[in-house]
Amino acid sequence: MKDREQLCKKFTELIGWHWHEFLAENKGQYQCSCLNSVIYNDKNELNKHIKKSNHTYKTPADVLKVMARRDDYNEFICSFQKKYRLDINEFIEKYIIESDTLLKAAVEFLEERNGK
Ligand SMILES: [Zn+2]
Repeated sequence: MKDREQLCKKFTELIGWHWHEFLAENKGQYQCSCLNSVIYNDKNELNKHIKKSNHTYKTPADVLKVMARRDDYNEFICSFQKKYRLDINEFIEKYIIESDTLLKAAVEFLEERNGK
């Protein structure tokens, strides 16, 4: 699994969603970790399901939309001011323009909240 995919998986699991991945193969039949009732007769079909099901959080907006559903959203947003002492320009430069930094920050925030 690539680093970026690993990051997406971690974020997905931290927010309590399911990450889809190959679970098992038995006599040419493939099953996804979501344990849906569909058994795939072809690994490509399983891969299509996985690709379609997993979130990719390609933009900072994708991360913010997910975080905004949480009760601790304000705390997350305020952490950039409090913890990193960033003004809005620095925030935009570091977390909106630079790719995946907001996703990493969200993972870090959620891990800290979970006491990891
Ligand atoms: Zn699945």
